[in-house]
Amino acid sequence: MGMKGPIITLNEVKRSNLRAVLALLVRSGELSRVEIAERLGCDNTTVSRAVRELIARGIVGTAGRNGGSPGRPRVALRVDPEGPQLIGIALEPECVTGVLTDLASSVRHSEKVIFRDVSSQEAYLMAAEEIVAKLVSRAGERLAGVGATVFGSYYGKDFTVEKAAALPLLNGVKLRPFFDRAAGREVLICDHTVSRARLLARRYPELNSGTVLLAAAGRGLGLAAAENGRLLFSRNGHGGEFGHMVRIPDGIPCACGRRGCLETVSSTAAMTENYRRRTGRSVSFDVLAEEFRRGSAEAESAVLPALDELGRALSEQLNNWQADKLAVTGDVLKLGPRFEAYLTRKIEAGIFSLVRESLSFHFPDLRDEDSLAVGASISASDAFVADFGA
Ligand SMILES: [Zn+2]
Repeated sequence: MGMKGPIITLNEVKRSNLRAVLALLVRSGELSRVEIAERLGCDNTTVSRAVRELIARGIVGTAGRNGGSPGRPRVALRVDPEGPQLIGIALEPECVTGVLTDLASSVRHSEKVIFRDVSSQEAYLMAAEEIVAKLVSRAGERLAGVGATVFGSYYGKDFTVEKAAALPLLNGVKLRPFFDRAAGREVLICDHTVSRARLLARRYPELNSGTVLLAAAGRGLGLAAAENGRLLFSRNGHGGEFGHMVRIPDGIPCACGRRGCLETVSSTAAMTENYRRRTGRSVSFDVLAEEFRRGSAEAESAVLPALDELGRALSEQLNNWQADKLAVTGDVLKLGPRFEAYLTRKIEAGIFSLVRESLSFHFPDLRDEDSLAVGASISASDAFVADFGA
């Protein structure tokens, strides 16, 4: 043993069965042994053996009885909410959120610090460190992994933050050493778009198959590609720089140091800025979105040019990658159903027939309170399952 070779040992088969059963339960909620066997296409004995071990290790439990014929109720199995726990941390410009979840990403506890005015990098990091420490101590022995999601870009082996336009005082922070020290273990780091992609795959099973492009549009713009739930083209948990494609040469200066990036044209900040220039009134995006939903002409003239450019940019991506599904999420969803219809029309006008004939549009709302932090915890949950028994 200890040598790697072409021979697959019985232990490896056993481990891969355990992983397959666990991965299915993590994704699917409650299932009986028979349902697990059907979905995995394997025999009941194999499933029973794997389930017995998962129960003995405190990872899977029974959730009562479901379905089956009246005389023979089936025992529903699920991930034990008291079993392994994951931590997810989301750094945002105006707050830090932390969640403790079970393997199936149900939130068991959450912590949040909202900043009115962050004075220094130290103050921000101290708040983040405190949240990590609280959650680590709450999870205790059951802690099985930690994930964190951050805005801006980062590079190098330490994941050094750069171009954090929304909170420049974070530039230069070395994320890996910071989080690893705070959590006392290795932390999985990703950007906000990748965190949303993980959440999407977990919450929307229909978006977990085929090729999916996920676009997130808010103050920043992000794009992630996935195939059968697996992320493509992401490096170190970073999805890419969709928002920094130059759309207008010599346009408005962008936080990345160039000019005319998509973010300067199609972000929610660009929309409120359009509105201010037209009306002389500075409003929040929430107010602008409400006016847009009510059909105000002023709001329309601020929003539609931004959507035109977003639609063109997305059409070009779709013409390149020919995805089966496009999912658009983020604060732009506040613009409501008229926005969804308008963007869909715009994109349909810009894509080739070959792309259009197999493309479906989705507008999943991933904006609930803890969603970014939960997405980060899913990275940790996925890693726990993938390494299980290794
Ligand atoms: Zn830029």
